[in-house]
Amino acid sequence: MTVAGSRCPECGAAGGGGSCLAQFHALLALDHQRLQPWGRYHGLNVACFLLQHPSTVTTTVLGGQWEMVAAYLDGGLPALEQVQTDRVRRNRGTNEGVLRFPAPPVRVREPSVTIADVSVDGTFPAEGYAARMRSWAESIALEREQGHRVDRGRSGRP
Ligand SMILES: [Zn+2]
Repeated sequence: MTVAGSRCPECGAAGGGGSCLAQFHALLALDHQRLQPWGRYHGLNVACFLLQHPSTVTTTVLGGQWEMVAAYLDGGLPALEQVQTDRVRRNRGTNEGVLRFPAPPVRVREPSVTIADVSVDGTFPAEGYAARMRSWAESIALEREQGHRVDRGRSGRP
């Protein structure tokens, strides 16, 4: 048995939810320095984190985040960047200034990869970072039984 409170109630990572949030803030700090390899994964980082910690955002926000993870698994970073570019353009065309998205597929399995795995020791080492990000995104899909996207990502473009 694990000690109550020692695991994040949302993603199951050790250290509790506060630890996940602290690691997420550390990762955002790296992203915002626009250093690589972290910077270009910023959109994916946010998407993965929110999809594994859905309590703080609305369903339509999660749907938009899922669309980004799915695009990345289908076509890698170029596909993700295309979604982000399209979204900025579409956003300019809406009266509300807010795009709406269908709900993401329901999570039916426990995460196999969490932000704790991506951070390794809390520092998000550059070595192997891209591979860990892919594993995180793949876990998001597998949690929702969207494993076909994982297979396609592996056999398709980098
Ligand atoms: Zn967590």
